[in-house]
Amino acid sequence: MAELVERARAAEPRAVARLISLVEDRSPLLREVSAALTPHVGRAHIVGLTGSPGVGKSTSTSALVSALRATGQRVGVLAVDPSSPFSGGALLGDRIRMQDHALDDGVFIRSMASRGHLGGLSATAPQALRVLDAAGCDVILVETVGVGQSEVEVAGLVDTTLVLLAPGMGDGIQAAKAGILEIGDLFVVNKADRDGAATTRRELRAVIAMTDRADGAWKPPILLTTATTGEGVAEVVDEIAAHKAHLDQSGELTRRRLARIRREIEGLALADVQSRFSHLSADVRLDTLAEQVLSGQADPFAAAESLVESL
Ligand code: GDP
Repeated sequence: MAELVERARAAEPRAVARLISLVEDRSPLLREVSAALTPHVGRAHIVGLTGSPGVGKSTSTSALVSALRATGQRVGVLAVDPSSPFSGGALLGDRIRMQDHALDDGVFIRSMASRGHLGGLSATAPQALRVLDAAGCDVILVETVGVGQSEVEVAGLVDTTLVLLAPGMGDGIQAAKAGILEIGDLFVVNKADRDGAATTRRELRAVIAMTDRADGAWKPPILLTTATTGEGVAEVVDEIAAHKAHLDQSGELTRRRLARIRREIEGLALADVQSRFSHLSADVRLDTLAEQVLSGQADPFAAAESLVESL
């Protein structure tokens, strides 16, 4: 394991891929990996992309990778699909645009599904992000793929949240409903080559001005891009860096990361309890307790309490 972690730290693609597979498979080796990685993480700026399906998240991710690479930064991409049980190649195969970066050794791309995993996204994605972080990625883009997933969930995994919208989708109102106005650190109106982008930006500015923001000192910029041509994407990269600088000097970075780690610990602890429980349900103790409740020797609360204690 130590050797594998060393190879991943030297940015060897196969070692990085192997470690992320261990994360996905919930390998028992993960604890050791996690311990070995922990001293080497915290450098990467983790940026989430969210928005309704079709706004151009995948095209924008690819355009951002190009723009970040143009500034010499090493980039990781984690495409997360909370709605799918399928991971890895199958999902990435659909993501043709990413193949532009397939031969670039300064780019790591990985997809990950979490449906049906104990603890969900909050228990698996942080581990994968740590692997990419330790592999020396300067920026890691986390993109949610698939439909029907919670658009706000990604914000809990990242330092900076970029909310993508497109003109003519009634997005101003959609965004307000989905609660993504509060979580956006940067707003990007993509498909600026289409009619209505300026109107969407104006509407968005008006709604954002009215939202209560926890992080009051930062005024989220609203940028226009055409992801298909790359127009405006360099400005997005500049604003991502500006937000990172703000996070650093305001102390907000530490606050966000602590909140994230809390959720991660919670997720791991719950997954652990749940897995012990599933072993336990086959256990005779549960049968005994059920019999005691049926015969009036114990009440269900007392039975549950003794079960939890036995964990
Ligand atoms: P996602 O579902 O949010 O990941 O969206 P995609 O990146 O798959 O894009 C959805 C569609 O919009 C694709 O057909 C893209 O080619 C197209 N698209 C993405 N960005 C732009 C843009 O800036 N302008 C135009 N006209 N089309 C775009």
